[in-house]
Amino acid sequence: MSFDSVIGQKEAVEILQDEIEKNRISHAYLFSAKKGSGKTKLAFEFAKASFCEESKVDSCGSCLNCRKMDHQNHPDFKTISILEGKTAISIDQIRELKKEIAYKPYDSDHKIYIIEPAEKMTKQAANSLLKTLEEPPSFVTIILLTEDSGKLLPTIVSRCQQIKLSSVSQQKIKDLLLAEGLNQEQAAIISKTAAGSPGRALDIIKIDDYFEHRQEIYDFLKDIKSKNTIEIFKITEKVVSLLKSGFPCFNLLSDWYRDIMLIKQDYLDAVINKDYLEDLKIMAEKLSLQNIIRSLELITESEEYIERNIREELSLEVLFFKLRQPDQE
Ligand SMILES: [Zn+2]
Repeated sequence: MSFDSVIGQKEAVEILQDEIEKNRISHAYLFSAKKGSGKTKLAFEFAKASFCEESKVDSCGSCLNCRKMDHQNHPDFKTISILEGKTAISIDQIRELKKEIAYKPYDSDHKIYIIEPAEKMTKQAANSLLKTLEEPPSFVTIILLTEDSGKLLPTIVSRCQQIKLSSVSQQKIKDLLLAEGLNQEQAAIISKTAAGSPGRALDIIKIDDYFEHRQEIYDFLKDIKSKNTIEIFKITEKVVSLLKSGFPCFNLLSDWYRDIMLIKQDYLDAVINKDYLEDLKIMAEKLSLQNIIRSLELITESEEYIERNIREELSLEVLFFKLRQPDQE
């Protein structure tokens, strides 16, 4: 793996390669991009290229430093992230980092630390890191990865060189999926639902029976008007168990109603679920724009309730009952 494996971020890669080549690596970077855009991968490949003994602007994949990176045991590279069971990066983790940072590198002439997700540092952790960002040891580079730089302290942002990643084109993601062995129709659907995020597309294709589960949910939605209470309980049970395994149920639900809205407004090209086009068109005819928008709001509300630990079954049952009759909302 090298910079070639970073999809659709040519501009960012060129900036970073140039800095490695000219020996002008910054002491602090901020990579900002939405989830799945490849920022973790970019940071890793950047570090690997900077450590490589053979190549000046990329990684060779075979020198000792490259192999240590690939085996995740390079002593001069470390990622600080949220510990299991916690919800934020704590001040203790940053204190530990500051202790380590003082030691000289082992296998190369510099050290790289990644903090991800940087916006999840506690206030105390962020303030503590600030001092290090002001005066880092000459051999240290810290890369902050964030989905939202607006959630970071402005004083932290201003001390970092900012690298913005771009949204990846649908065609690029589709090509990637075709190369992974998906057929044209499946690749088209997933490249659209991934919305510019190759990481999300790759996550979806790792899910067992993704298309079967999707079919079950969409076959339910297309006839939701005629579903009885028992059928609503059944689909709720299914969705609850899928959510537990990390299946993107809410994305599927909102994609469905978003498609109906697009059809209603004659934006057929943008429809994701082309394989359900006829069903979506029928629903677009029956539902008013107001009903569709309300349905999308209900889905978002339900997702938020579940994130706030309100009972999943209850929240989903209510959602499906309401989606069945959006006109009575
Ligand atoms: Zn190498």
